[in-house]
Amino acid sequence: MTYVNLITGGAGFIGSHLCEALLERGEEVLCLDNFFTGRKANIAHLLGHPRFELVRHDLVNPIVLEADRIFNFACPASPVHYQYNPVKTIKTNVMGALNMLGLAKRVNARILQASTSEVYGDPTVHPQTEDYWGNVNPIGPRSCYDEGKRVAETLFFDYHTQNQVDIRVIRIFNTYGPRMLVNDGRVVSNFVVQALRNEPISIYGNGDQTRSFCYVSDLVRGILCMMDTDDFHGPVNLGNPGEFTILELAQKVIELTGSSSQLEYHPLPENDPTRRRPDISLARERLGWEPTVALEEGLKETINYFDALLRES
Ligand code: NAD
Ligand code: UDP
Repeated sequence: MTYVNLITGGAGFIGSHLCEALLERGEEVLCLDNFFTGRKANIAHLLGHPRFELVRHDLVNPIVLEADRIFNFACPASPVHYQYNPVKTIKTNVMGALNMLGLAKRVNARILQASTSEVYGDPTVHPQTEDYWGNVNPIGPRSCYDEGKRVAETLFFDYHTQNQVDIRVIRIFNTYGPRMLVNDGRVVSNFVVQALRNEPISIYGNGDQTRSFCYVSDLVRGILCMMDTDDFHGPVNLGNPGEFTILELAQKVIELTGSSSQLEYHPLPENDPTRRRPDISLARERLGWEPTVALEEGLKETINYFDALLRES
């Protein structure tokens, strides 16, 4: 069947890779974005495609569209960007979810929510399993994002229970790859850009905090597995279980770029999670999914992307 897929945040980093993957499967793509952190350049190569359409729209406002499947990805994901206008971030998460769930209910579409490992906050359980309720500060600098995503999950499950909307909820762990913004502010793009420019590598805190990094092609495969699966609503963790300290990441990036960059230490941002690693047993069992791209391999692709981009500018 050829589905009409609505992808909110489709001009963003993950959204644009998802648009491409769906077109490659022969499906229709309706990409919706307000270009807050998304770029036309991410989807410029898709604009002439006969099965691709672009809608400039802000998801906090309702919209009437027709779609068989909705991927709700609109929301700035980098702490720098989501903290720029916290009230707007909450609105995007909550009103965006309400608008898309209302649409899904009206047109009887299956709808997938891009939730996040941030729903676990600064976790006291390690690695994180889906049944862990999290440790989130409701009034800190990350709350607009963390709590916004938590409310969105609640809305998804309430629409499912109350209105039988066919939901899917995935919790995405740190994902990286080509098409992140040069000034994105997230750790992988920051380190790669700094290393390529031979500028100091900005380590926040002492660099002992850990993250697990998933390459974007692995994530997109997981998203599609979840959307295609019947009788499983999630939430399900999607991420790479390899765990690295931020210092280890910096060293890898320096090594792979052959950079002369030195480490430069900065204060740790407030409420920065200390450890993060997904338990992906559920994704393995229910979706038969696991990542295949090793950090070094994914970093090489990412470095090549930023290297070409920086040379152009
Ligand atoms: P991104 O910032 O590149 O993409 C977000 C997209 O949403 C952008 O194109 C932006 O312009 C658009 N957008 C933001 N507010 C909007 C609004 N009000 N109306 C319409 N469009 C709007 O970030 P990303 O990394 O591609 O993340 C995509 C989704 O995945 C987000 O929902 C994010 O929370 C989630 N996620 C990402 C990660 C990750 O590591 N990349 C981890 C967990 C969850
Ligand atoms: N970080 C860092 N230097 C940077 C950017 C981020 O040391 O230039 C750290 C940040 O403090 C966090 C980790 O890297 O501990 C991941 O940060 P990111 O913003 O990528 O995502 P988060 O998982 O915190 O949402």
